[in-house]
Amino acid sequence: MYNFYDYSLPKLEELIVSFNEKKYRATQLFKWVYKRKVFDFDAMSDVSKTFREFLKENFVFIKPKIYKKQVSKDGTIKLLLELEDGAKVETVLMRYNYGNVACVSSEVGCNMGCAFCASGILKKQRELKVSEILGQVLVLNDLLFEEGNDERITHVVVMGTGEPFDNYDNVMDFIRILNNPHGLEIGARHITVSTCGIVPKIYDYANEGLQINLAISLHAPNDEIRNKIMAISRVYPLDELMKAVKYYEKTAGRRVTFEYILLKGINDSKENAKELAKLIKGTLAYVNLIPYNEVSEMKYRRSDEKTVHEYLDTLMKLGVTATIRKEFGSDIDAACGQLRAKEERRD
Ligand code: SAH
Repeated sequence: MYNFYDYSLPKLEELIVSFNEKKYRATQLFKWVYKRKVFDFDAMSDVSKTFREFLKENFVFIKPKIYKKQVSKDGTIKLLLELEDGAKVETVLMRYNYGNVACVSSEVGCNMGCAFCASGILKKQRELKVSEILGQVLVLNDLLFEEGNDERITHVVVMGTGEPFDNYDNVMDFIRILNNPHGLEIGARHITVSTCGIVPKIYDYANEGLQINLAISLHAPNDEIRNKIMAISRVYPLDELMKAVKYYEKTAGRRVTFEYILLKGINDSKENAKELAKLIKGTLAYVNLIPYNEVSEMKYRRSDEKTVHEYLDTLMKLGVTATIRKEFGSDIDAACGQLRAKEERRD
């Protein structure tokens, strides 16, 4: 059986041609499913009867199931979803004034080993299939539909559990379905992929020729601090990372966002801010300062508000564009991987 949601349009075309059918049938199917929300092959009137029979026997529509749902006072929804093999992933809906943002996971667990992150508490079990990443957006769309306000997901960030560039091909196919005019039709500029800095994949991503946003989890202004909190830094040091960022900016014609979690006493001094400004000089980049979501079993603490604002000021004075990330769902298990880590331990 083929899960329809595993196929980007080019991949579905390829598959359909291998069944000796016309390539354009793939676009017809995409329109029925993603545009008209018709899942009954019998109702797809412009598809021949014999092919409809074939589709019925060979294709299914499988989405993750809601295992647990938390709703925050600010409207943020966090879901723990169960996949076909029982694995669980987290997905979050955040309501900004500009739209509904889905934060999706790309893997079950994560092996990147960032010292402050709850996702890494449970090591990577496996990568997610295209249908399992897409399914997170589809399930959130179903919830928005049930609310009855004719709303849907307008923006997607691949910033949930997992390292998207460690599951590169599936994440790219997922993005192709999101972005396709016959698919979910979400504009490339409304989609952001965040990586901890897998350098060779940044070059691949730059060469895709897509207009999708790239965010880099930087979190430190030098290798010494970065090596302590992000294991990937020992494989790809900052000078290699910055070279890749510059290549991306030149090739894709887009600027990146640097994410920087402020951790008390670790990376939040004025000196650190100055060093950061120097590090990213010469890039078009923009810095997103993230208030740390404390994870009980980890020793890191969030910088106090005054320190955060001083850090921001220092950057701005040095000509760096920076903002402080708005927080959502602080009354639920909002930090990456927190809900799943809690549930898996309970099981
Ligand atoms: N692996 C990718 C994407 C997932 S993490 C990456 O590293 O970018 C998404 C972002 O959340 C990263 O910037 C990550 O460092 C950050 N993050 C992880 N744990 C956090 C926490 N407890 N509080 C705030 N941000 C966190």
